[in-house]
Amino acid sequence: IPVQPFDLVIFGGTGDLARRKILPALFRRFCAGQMDAQARVIGAARAEMDDAGYRAFARDAIIEFDVDAASDAAHLEPFLEQLSYVALDAAGETGWDALQDRLAGSERIRAFYFSVGPSLFGDLAMRLHTYGLSNPDCRIVVEKPFGRDLDSARALNKVLAEHFTEAQIYRIDHYLGKETVQNLMAIRFANTLFEPLWNSQYVDHIQITVAESGGVGTRGGYYDKSGAMRDMMQNHIMQLLCLTAMEPPAKYDPDSVRDEKLKVIRALEPVEPRDVVRGQYEATDRLAGYRNEVGSRDTTTESFVALKARIGNWRWAGTPFYLRTGKRLRARASEIAVVFKDAPHSIFGSDAGRHRNILTIRLQPNEGIEMGVTIKEPGPGGMRLVDVPLDMTFSEALGPQAADIPDAYERLIMDVIRGDQTLFMRGDEVEAAWAWTDPIIEAWEAPGSEPVLYATGSSGPDDALALIHRDGRRWREIK
Ligand code: NAD
Repeated sequence: IPVQPFDLVIFGGTGDLARRKILPALFRRFCAGQMDAQARVIGAARAEMDDAGYRAFARDAIIEFDVDAASDAAHLEPFLEQLSYVALDAAGETGWDALQDRLAGSERIRAFYFSVGPSLFGDLAMRLHTYGLSNPDCRIVVEKPFGRDLDSARALNKVLAEHFTEAQIYRIDHYLGKETVQNLMAIRFANTLFEPLWNSQYVDHIQITVAESGGVGTRGGYYDKSGAMRDMMQNHIMQLLCLTAMEPPAKYDPDSVRDEKLKVIRALEPVEPRDVVRGQYEATDRLAGYRNEVGSRDTTTESFVALKARIGNWRWAGTPFYLRTGKRLRARASEIAVVFKDAPHSIFGSDAGRHRNILTIRLQPNEGIEMGVTIKEPGPGGMRLVDVPLDMTFSEALGPQAADIPDAYERLIMDVIRGDQTLFMRGDEVEAAWAWTDPIIEAWEAPGSEPVLYATGSSGPDDALALIHRDGRRWREIK
């Protein structure tokens, strides 16, 4: 379904994010017929460039980052026609008149994408107001990181709130735009099968893993100021945790969903020091270690974190959530695994205890959902049990419809135009998440506090294995 005509201004339109994600996502939506021929995309950044230059920039980006672009060559030129560019300084007055002219008289839906560093958010919000570019129906989209602790997140919320209402602010967490993550809600709330079992009575524990096989690469400078806790745990993993643990919202609408997520974050108990492990990958014969890659011999920034989270409410009391994320691990694999308790009584003898139902929501690779069930091993060998997966890899189960799973940014940008905030973070959610992670990070800042090292290609530090072994459980294999 096409969205209404819009003017989308991308501040930072020549940046890495615009090149890798935003422009290719818009192009795909254009190819899918969702972007109206009247829609306009206006790049706005510091570089001096004309419209033709920006179109060439966008063409290169699409060809580089959209694998299917070649097959949509017929769409490329018409799409580029809808792009233009304004050179402008977010922190000064240069170029704003030109943007005013560009938008003058337009009745289209207006959205401003802040694809610049957070230090410019205040400048942009203020100038959009001063130059009369904002209106009560316009939207702003802000990227992560939304602050680096509670105080800075509060300050950002405050500066945006001076000129925009909460209903106009779209804080991106691209994990929420992932198809499987939305499917988690469908699985939970559109089936009668799971919800009665979705609590501490039946669930032994939950594991959430976001593992990357790559290192920090060229992003070392940025990453070293942030680390796994700020870059992954506080936002993406926290969102996955919320969707897994939240109560059923009364309706699928932005505030009903976000209210329930907020309750989960607020119910999180403080993490005890023994329940968190901070790791850093070390050098091997072939590969540089974290410290070499970021060019600092004594950085203590973590490239891995594992922790045990506890949610203090009726549904989850006594059911731990083990969370881990890191770089240079064995494989690039992300999943949520709901591990159910053993059957209360085994009629099949000693074999039974080893079998557990596990519901796995796989984010990558091969987005899909798998339910592990125990059946009888075929053959005449007696009542022997075996675990088999009921696998629903989307691309296989749904055929061509799912072969082309849209990128998260495609979904999210269209939601901005539609005015649907359900998959965006609300200001109070972000603040509550920082309030939970801040004490962990502060403890790491104490003198002498060091991350533990782990080998490239491993599952993380030994301490992380011990964290879960202590409870008589084990991590799922990263593969
Ligand atoms: P980048 O450094 O590649 O690009 C920054 C853009 O901002 C450029 O277009 C630059 O011209 C523009 N800019 C900088 N100062 C300006 C000013 N004073 N006036 C006007 N324009 C100005 O950065 P990026 O990687 O594209 O990241 C943009 C934002 O998105 C950042 O907040 C970043 O944290 C976030 N983000 C990036 C990624 C990514 O993969 N690159 C992922 C998630 C979030």
